[in-house]
Amino acid sequence: MIATTASILAAAAFGGEAPGGQAAPEGTRCAACGGDCHGTSHHYVAGKSFNDKSMFSHPGGDRVCASCSSLLLSDEATSGHTGSGVVSAIGFKRLLSNRERLAFLTAPPEPPFAVALITAKRQHVWWMARVAYDRDVIPVQFGHRALIVDRPRAIAAADAVLEYEAETTERDQKTTYVFVPLSRDLKLSQDGQYTSRFQIDQGNHARSLKQQLSRLSLGDLWAMSQLRSAARELKTPTVADAARALTATEALATGD
Ligand SMILES: [Zn+2]
Repeated sequence: MIATTASILAAAAFGGEAPGGQAAPEGTRCAACGGDCHGTSHHYVAGKSFNDKSMFSHPGGDRVCASCSSLLLSDEATSGHTGSGVVSAIGFKRLLSNRERLAFLTAPPEPPFAVALITAKRQHVWWMARVAYDRDVIPVQFGHRALIVDRPRAIAAADAVLEYEAETTERDQKTTYVFVPLSRDLKLSQDGQYTSRFQIDQGNHARSLKQQLSRLSLGDLWAMSQLRSAARELKTPTVADAARALTATEALATGD
């Protein structure tokens, strides 16, 4: 597998590397992503509103690689509407709707790939993202926060929540429930999609589910909540069924 950076993958997907630049000595590292400049570097002067320089791999440096240079200037890569998604050798795929996230989380592209979710306007985060080299352990750049998703664990948790919700009657939920917020941290995001809560009552089954959920990382919780929402939207009992339903719908839409 080829070693790469999220910047290289993202710049290629969003329209290519910035032209120009100056010859850089062998081994010059990019101040932003920390990757090799491959012989050409660009002078980067942060604009007045850019306050992420401390997140640079080399905050003191002012030479960036051609990929970071193009990403730091790109509007396409910083708009939440178009910029949130996954980049890989096959290009960019949007990750906005529950269904788009279901498709990604149940069938990620061939590694290497990188994932970033833009959580504020004109947020440059692609250069911060890490590259996934494994389909089951996936780094997700969630705004300025780096999350790790353990995919099998998130799918198992979503299935457990779906099963619990299917077994619990509405009356039970109304009489004996506690709210389990997914995460205070994720609520900091401006995107309301990450604030979802669900109800868990206080019975035995609920206790074991709560234990299972308490073992999830922030990234696992994010993925679990996307998968659960998608399965509910598609009215399927499990994540695998939701993925199959999605594939069938898409095949119909494209006439395959
Ligand atoms: Zn770079």
